[in-house]
Amino acid sequence: MCSIIGYSGNENAAPVIVKGLRRMEYRGYDSVGVATESNNHIELKKGVGKVEVVNSKFQLDDLPGSIGIGHTRWATHGKVTDANAHPHPSNSGKIAIVHNGIIENFDELKENLKKDGYSFQSETDSEVIANLLQKNYENLNDVKNTMIKTVSELRGHYSFIAMFENGQLAAARYHEPLIIGIGKEKYFLSSDVLGFIEQTDDVIYIDNGNFVLIDQEKMQILDFDGNEIKPQITKVSKEFADVYKGDYAHFTLKEISEQSETIFKAGETTKDSIKKSSDYLKNAKNIYLTGSGTSHNASLVGKYLLSKYAKIKSESIIASEMPFSENIIEPNSLLIALSQSGESADVLEAVNIAKKSNCKIIAILNSLTSTLARESDCVIGMNCGPEIGVAATKSFTSQLIILYKIIQELSDEKMVIDFQEISSSISQILMEHNKIKKLANEIKDISDIYVLGRGIHYPIAIESALKIKELTYIHAEGIAGGELKHGPLALMDSSVFVIIINPGDSTYQDTLMSAREIKARGAKIIGISDKSSDVYDYWIQIPKTHELTFPISETIPIQLLSYYAALEKDTDPDYPRNLAKSVTVK
Ligand code: GLU
Repeated sequence: MCSIIGYSGNENAAPVIVKGLRRMEYRGYDSVGVATESNNHIELKKGVGKVEVVNSKFQLDDLPGSIGIGHTRWATHGKVTDANAHPHPSNSGKIAIVHNGIIENFDELKENLKKDGYSFQSETDSEVIANLLQKNYENLNDVKNTMIKTVSELRGHYSFIAMFENGQLAAARYHEPLIIGIGKEKYFLSSDVLGFIEQTDDVIYIDNGNFVLIDQEKMQILDFDGNEIKPQITKVSKEFADVYKGDYAHFTLKEISEQSETIFKAGETTKDSIKKSSDYLKNAKNIYLTGSGTSHNASLVGKYLLSKYAKIKSESIIASEMPFSENIIEPNSLLIALSQSGESADVLEAVNIAKKSNCKIIAILNSLTSTLARESDCVIGMNCGPEIGVAATKSFTSQLIILYKIIQELSDEKMVIDFQEISSSISQILMEHNKIKKLANEIKDISDIYVLGRGIHYPIAIESALKIKELTYIHAEGIAGGELKHGPLALMDSSVFVIIINPGDSTYQDTLMSAREIKARGAKIIGISDKSSDVYDYWIQIPKTHELTFPISETIPIQLLSYYAALEKDTDPDYPRNLAKSVTVK
């Protein structure tokens, strides 16, 4: 999702802001802008495109002054245009704002402001915040009371930062992230610690329904009624600063390659949580798993693992479907929520719904300081380091490892899972990159790819199709092997490629049969298997291992294939079009 950033200190604000925006690029965006204050005057520059491009076109980092705000936009209201980019000034030009999220009642607010003579330069919902602040400030003459009045009038999900002509910054958080960084004689406001991590690791996570006032002398946190809140300073891990690509061409490739190591870290620093979560699971009335995108696919694997290896029945529900599943959630049950960022709006809403039914929450996440972590009864960290590539890779395999650890803990005579074997399999597959690169060239012009798997390999097929869509923009679909004859077979002809996930386990023979039926219709077959077969036009060999290693081994080649196909198609694998890393709006 987009990022907001604010700075008040003793250096030139604009270069600090541009640098912070660059570090948060991974969150996904379509346009950029910066505004600064100097000599009681606000100046702003903004435009469509990447930070680098807009900055070299307009020199955002040349803006004067030591106070400023910046934004990368992920359009929700209004097209991707220069005018719709943030910051948005109020009509007087004496206030400018950056906003992340959605103002639900913007239409009504806009109409009322128009009646008061305000005009609007953009199609965004955000611009109403600037003019509402101006109207309230002109009446109240005080930033604190202006903020209290303004937030009482806004509905929706938002975090915003407002900069006043006198150099004061005010920022509010309502269901969107907002963090303060405290440096030496300087303050940062940001949606993500990456916005300022090079400058300070002392942070305050602003609670929902609070706002912040910052001027040259002090910083104050208040709730929406104006009561002062005692700040709680947390030290964040400096490892967040480690977000460089190193020798890799892209973050996505770096993150795929790290998996032989990151799987050892999954759940490691939170061992007690694995034990605690298995106790919760043993005692829960009903168990639900939820997530969005890749995390939802991991939850489907979780459901399968719980039933096969722990004989525990569970239900996996897509997070955004939870509001429409009210009667499914039985009171006093357990929800396992999976989310890389811990900030996904849909997952947070699902958690809220479950909490209303008195459910306990286990969170499996990468960001231990996220909103989800704070909302949960038990937190299990993926510990796989920052994942910058928008398409989830190492976070998925870390989620699987955590689920493995949970079922291992649940099993009576402690199941043996060989994590070393999983790591060696990943390393062996990574060494096949040249072969996979060649295959990427073969698939680059295909318009449809299907991925077929049975049992635990069906969620892997869905996840594989998602990776192909995200990284290559090729239409891809996961098929449950047994469903082939119930519809998808009609789509098979010589124009399509089908990836068959076919490790040598109990699904092998049936899946091989599906491959033959598809081949007979002329489609090209890519087999991912430890066993070769004449039915495969292309065979990606994975090592022969324990059945629990297979879901991870078969994921890696498809991540690589998607990555290399993205390069063949000249798309940006780290920042796929229209997608954001952490979807903090509904
Ligand atoms: N709703 C606002 C817009 O469309 C903000 C979107 C964002 O979070 O970037 O401009």
